[in-house]
Amino acid sequence: PLTITVDGLAKLLGVPNDHMLRKMRFIGMNKLANDYLLSNEEAADIALTYGVVPVIPEESGPELYPRPAPDDMSKHPLRPPVITIMGHVDHGKTTLLDTLRSSSITAGEAGGITQHIGAFSVLMKGGQNITFLDTPGHAAFSAMRARGANATDIVVLVVAADDGVMPQTKEAIQHAQDAGVPIIVAINKCDKSGVDPSLIQEELLQHGIQTENMGGDVQAVEISALKGDGVDELAENIATLAEVLDLRAEVDIPAEASVIESQVEKGRGNTASVLVKRGMLKVGDIIAAGTTWCKVRSMADDRGKPVVSAGPATAVKIMGWKEIPQAGDLVLQAKTEAQVKDVIANRIAKRKKREQLDSIEAVNEKRREIH
Ligand code: GDP
Ligand code: MG
Repeated sequence: PLTITVDGLAKLLGVPNDHMLRKMRFIGMNKLANDYLLSNEEAADIALTYGVVPVIPEESGPELYPRPAPDDMSKHPLRPPVITIMGHVDHGKTTLLDTLRSSSITAGEAGGITQHIGAFSVLMKGGQNITFLDTPGHAAFSAMRARGANATDIVVLVVAADDGVMPQTKEAIQHAQDAGVPIIVAINKCDKSGVDPSLIQEELLQHGIQTENMGGDVQAVEISALKGDGVDELAENIATLAEVLDLRAEVDIPAEASVIESQVEKGRGNTASVLVKRGMLKVGDIIAAGTTWCKVRSMADDRGKPVVSAGPATAVKIMGWKEIPQAGDLVLQAKTEAQVKDVIANRIAKRKKREQLDSIEAVNEKRREIH
């Protein structure tokens, strides 16, 4: 562990020793000599009284890490694209998701009662799968991004032809552009009389979205989410763009996933839906997310059917969590229960330390306000 003397810290902070010693006495310390060795916590407390927020190098302790990305993805199998539908309220996101869900050729399968697990897969006629995230758009997207989980490959931007570009449309464009995620525009409600979809494309151009008709490379599809018109074409466009993106993932490594949503369910206990990113997640696996963990007791797909394994870009609900994890949490696989317990204990200890540091900072903030 790093330590520093009183003298060394004063030099580091660029303050006179005697001034710092007075500060130390003021905050209740008694190691009042220049050659005393300060602990990290003490040094942090002193630094904070000078308004310097220290970065304490955390000892990493037991931790799980994602595998580094391989140099050559081309030998790994293709995976489905993951789509987030965004757009202004009432422009038809939920209607479009419902239409897509029921258009899936697997919809008629036995046990095919759709379950809300935060994402669902649509099997295309050509055999490709497309995964749609269906948690309320922007919030989930932002939560995942805030935790560095860029789970979305393509954003479908829904714009109602009778309403045009609205505040949440602009917000969605911003989110997608910030994340560097390509957009496909779905101009919705084209069944309504008197609407002119080409006006929407002109309007989008003013907001940095140049559709193919306007000389750009963003695809725009005219649809009626309500009647189903154009929805197949939209799905085909998604599949085509996905092919261009050449989305691949390793399947022969420990599982990595992102938590989409979590809840306590009657009869099922703590559950969490996750989107697998890499590797194969299997029943019996031991996984960690945030400060909780799980030995996967059972998994269910978006039809409520039990599954024993889930590969990249598929969503499953997982049963068996000690406590529920948070949306956006990274899920990583551990080798043993002993290992995962060590990792979680370490994470909890670190979180406590951070909270302590935050409260010290809050107290000092108050002090600075008073003085
Ligand atoms: P969301 O807020 O974006 O999820 O929008 P909803 O899917 O809830 O749709 C808002 C309203 O628009 C509902 O009354 C839908 O029935 C209606 N709506 C959605 N899509 C269409 C469409 O393609 N045509 C028409 N005429 N109405 C639609
Ligand atoms: Mg909705």
